[in-house]
Amino acid sequence: MLIRADSLDDNHVIESDVCIVGGGAAGITLALELAAGGMNVTLLESGFLDFDAATQDLYRGDNVGEPLTVLGGEVDLDEIRLRWLGGTTNHWAGYCRPLQPVDFQRRDHLEVSGWPIDHDDLLPFWARAAEWCRITDSEFSPAVWQERSGMKLPPISNRVVAPVAFQIAFPMPFGEVYRDDLARSTRLRVILGANVTNLADDGRHVTSAEIRTLGGLRLRARSEAFVVASGGIENARLLLASTDGNPSGLGNNHDLVGRYFTEHLQSYAGFGLFEAPLEDLVGFHGEDVEITRGRHAGSVHGVKYALALTSEHVASANTTGLEVQFALGHLPDGVPYQPGGDTMAEIGALLSAVAGERPSTAAYVQVLAEQRLNPDSRVTLSSESDPFGMPRARLDWRHTPQDRAAILSGLRTVAEQVGAAGAGRFQIIPGGVHADAADHMIPGEFLSLYRSSPEEFDPLGFPVGVGFHHMCTTRMATDPTEGVVDADCRVHGIDNLWMAGSSVFATGGVATPTFNIVALALRLADHLTSVVPNLSR
Ligand SMILES: Cc1cc2nc3c(=O)[nH]c(=O)nc-3n(C[C@H](O)[C@H](O)[C@H](O)COP(=O)(O)OP(=O)(O)OC[C@H]3O[C@@H](n4cnc5c(N)ncnc54)[C@H](O)[C@@H]3O)c2cc1C
Repeated sequence: MLIRADSLDDNHVIESDVCIVGGGAAGITLALELAAGGMNVTLLESGFLDFDAATQDLYRGDNVGEPLTVLGGEVDLDEIRLRWLGGTTNHWAGYCRPLQPVDFQRRDHLEVSGWPIDHDDLLPFWARAAEWCRITDSEFSPAVWQERSGMKLPPISNRVVAPVAFQIAFPMPFGEVYRDDLARSTRLRVILGANVTNLADDGRHVTSAEIRTLGGLRLRARSEAFVVASGGIENARLLLASTDGNPSGLGNNHDLVGRYFTEHLQSYAGFGLFEAPLEDLVGFHGEDVEITRGRHAGSVHGVKYALALTSEHVASANTTGLEVQFALGHLPDGVPYQPGGDTMAEIGALLSAVAGERPSTAAYVQVLAEQRLNPDSRVTLSSESDPFGMPRARLDWRHTPQDRAAILSGLRTVAEQVGAAGAGRFQIIPGGVHADAADHMIPGEFLSLYRSSPEEFDPLGFPVGVGFHHMCTTRMATDPTEGVVDADCRVHGIDNLWMAGSSVFATGGVATPTFNIVALALRLADHLTSVVPNLSR
């Protein structure tokens, strides 16, 4: 059932077994699963069925750390997430990939690493998450996708660098796709325009969620169990702003809420020339695949390859995860196509470096890299408040020279391996190439917009952009001095509060987060279905 909060009476109290704050990928998946399992569920969503400027403005906040840049432009806190039903999936790119085995392991060279659960613990949940994300299944082996789609595998695979496959669900706005299910469920009430401003608690137990509407109503939700699923930044903000039981914030006995804010470091990273013709490399662009089974049969999603450092290499070389994607184009006969700028000399130099052989395919190199966890990279509260008097979020995102060094060495490793296999040559210039977002994915074109030449390249200061992936702010750890939630995603020290979303990731890894967020939400649904009947209010 979908209900507008402003249609309820002032001071109305909503009762249910489980109350979820936030209707994005995590909240919607969890709510529908719990309701299907027989629970009475309230889903409190700040936004409505579409964009609303006053609601979106609640996401405004201070960004005092590294600039949040994408394609060279800087964005603000209210531009990197969306605040209506479906949350930021209303414009995510749909790239799905599971976390890798190395992500779950403790790595001694990192200050903080390791999950309290194993890679294999998530296998059954990835299998279920595929349908929720509207992709074929949880098969991500490039070899299997080669068989299924006929797309040739990339021309390199060894113990250091190997292809990985993405399934791409696009568009896949969770609010729209599951709106009818949310409306039809008799056990589920989705309250729209319900802004949760405080979780009332006595230091050990949450008693209610306090709700405000932009029209001035005050409501409350009471439940056996509460789940905060409001996104990687807001999850921390809401805990920090909920100070009834602890002035430093709910679940914040060890000053960890909001710390370890982690992004995926993204950069256009140079260009390369492959020996193989474009037709053989089409897997880097990807193809459409039709889903043949399940509730989304008939829908189409994408599949494409990238190259990645293997888990084995990341572990043995004491480094962090890194993936490289390619936007391909033909080099026309004669001189390379050049829309303007300095590209010809660069490409010419590369051509002559390739031992007289005439390679036929040029590629932009785009890198996505894991960031080391850093306790000083964090979400806190701003001195400015929103219209409800709730302090706005203050983001102090930090990355370190070690992160840039890892990007550079990871890219060099990929380039060396591709070169050693005789598959091509790369010119690595992280942050130096800026491909226009609208154009760079068009097959057959090779458009270039250089922002710096290799000579100007600064190995310690090259620009690093964001992936829009907000992780680890309530990280998972068995020991309450190392993380905010336990292995079941329950907040340490609070007996009826759980967290959902990428804030619970113990490390960020390099895989795109949402498929993993959905898998963890399904795991949490199973857990709550078994424990909530035993909780007493
Ligand atoms: C441009 C872009 C591209 C992306 N592409 C990808 C991709 O290809 N692959 C990938 O894996 N990820 C991608 N992402 C990230 C992806 O969108 C997020 O990982 C995902 O949406 C997180 O889901 P969530 O449910 O945790 O949070 P959200 O989707 O952010 O949902 C949170 C919900 O909580 C609600 N809310 C917030 N505060 C409150 C409150 N106080 N009270 C009530 N409700 C509240 C919000 O309105 C929202 O609906 C992309 C993001 C962006 C911006």
